[in-house]
Amino acid sequence: MPYIQFLGAAGTVTGSKHLINTSGDLAGKGGTQVLVDCGLFQGQKEWRERNWQGLPFAAQDIECVILTHAHLDHCGWIPRLVKQGFRGPIYATPATIDLCGIILPDSGHLQEEDAEYHNKFKTSRHDPALPLYTLEEAQNCLQYFQPVGFGEAKQISPELSFRFVHAAHILGSSMAEITMKAGEGAPSTRMLFTGDIGRVHDQHTAPGKVVFSGPQAGETADVLIMESTYGNRQHPTDDPRPKLAELIRKTVERGGSVVVPAFAVERTQKFVFMLKELMESGQTPRVPVYCDSPMAIKAVEIFLKHTEEYSDATKQLISRYGSPLKWQGFNFAQTSEESKKINDSNVPCIIISSSGMVTGGRIQHHLIQRLPDPKNSVIFIGFQAPGTRGFTIKSGAPEVKMFGQMVPIRAEVAALEQFSDHADTPELLEWLHSFTNKPNMTYLVHGEPSASTQLRDVMTRELGWKVQVAQWMQRVNVS
Ligand SMILES: [Zn+2]
Repeated sequence: MPYIQFLGAAGTVTGSKHLINTSGDLAGKGGTQVLVDCGLFQGQKEWRERNWQGLPFAAQDIECVILTHAHLDHCGWIPRLVKQGFRGPIYATPATIDLCGIILPDSGHLQEEDAEYHNKFKTSRHDPALPLYTLEEAQNCLQYFQPVGFGEAKQISPELSFRFVHAAHILGSSMAEITMKAGEGAPSTRMLFTGDIGRVHDQHTAPGKVVFSGPQAGETADVLIMESTYGNRQHPTDDPRPKLAELIRKTVERGGSVVVPAFAVERTQKFVFMLKELMESGQTPRVPVYCDSPMAIKAVEIFLKHTEEYSDATKQLISRYGSPLKWQGFNFAQTSEESKKINDSNVPCIIISSSGMVTGGRIQHHLIQRLPDPKNSVIFIGFQAPGTRGFTIKSGAPEVKMFGQMVPIRAEVAALEQFSDHADTPELLEWLHSFTNKPNMTYLVHGEPSASTQLRDVMTRELGWKVQVAQWMQRVNVS
């Protein structure tokens, strides 16, 4: 019997990787095997170590990868899959492909840097420590990407077809509606893989949202595979702008700088637009803003290219202020020399750098420099997964380890939860209420166990749906 196997993002929020096997044969004989997403495990070591494990099947036996969006926890294992022999197409929307073109090589570069660091300081039990994949290997895998536009029907094999619909999570993000049909006249099964689900509302509860708002309403599914990151939480409904303006103002008044760990793509753009608005309206002082990421400029260019995905508010902002790359006082550092110069700045400034959860990248250098001084502040504008340095700093720890040294945390630490690109529980329920049918079964993935189980209970109670929390490596039959 055909089955789905949850190879990642089950019991955790990273490593999204789901196998569809249409024949039920473990080697995929007599049918098709497809991966929906191929993400990297991040966060706690227990999960990260799974990046090194092989798959329970041969990579070359996978027909294709259907990729929902360009976040690393959904696409970051693709170079490894190609390294293991996968040569099929990777289907994604054009914007997702453009973003992967910068995100995956950057990830390869970070993997190499990590390995070099471990080898230099002998901090790994592996000798030599190796990168999961290199920058070159990440670049090499880009040749397998093939664009599929929203709404376009794509036949993968005689029994499988799919189309992408809007998920409204980040630029290019999609859900995959996958239809399985054994033959002419045979009944069909619709599987809906949500990927990550964006906010249902736009300006009121999530101001600053830059892309298309609201996941596709009116869905139909026999089997629903759904994310549950915020399955037990509700985002604040107040406007974050006054609080943000106050935090910046106070930091600047005491002569400090603001450091913002943020993913270079989407979140940084969203934040930069908000800063521009606050400065133009006089709510915050006009201090220099540094977007410090090797991919910052390219990310803005990709962002400006895909105008079809803008929210109305973003369209207005761009027509009013033009490209962020040309704004006075906003600096985009690409090289490491440019990045190092930011550290020399003694005047108050705002530094936005990645990675958003401080798991690597240039943000570490800025935090080593700025965390020990109480004049400065750190503002988190994204989810911090347990086990990451971002989680440690946000949870009020007195110190955090970076590059082998303990860094004291004396700067003011704040978090604004309104920037989330994930729907919260009420928003998820609002979206589920728009379904035209009751799925035969829903599997919850991409959530910490407490979030997934709570969402399961709420969905069972409020909707009367059959819902299970997916377990890592679990196989479930679909028919
Ligand atoms: Zn995502």
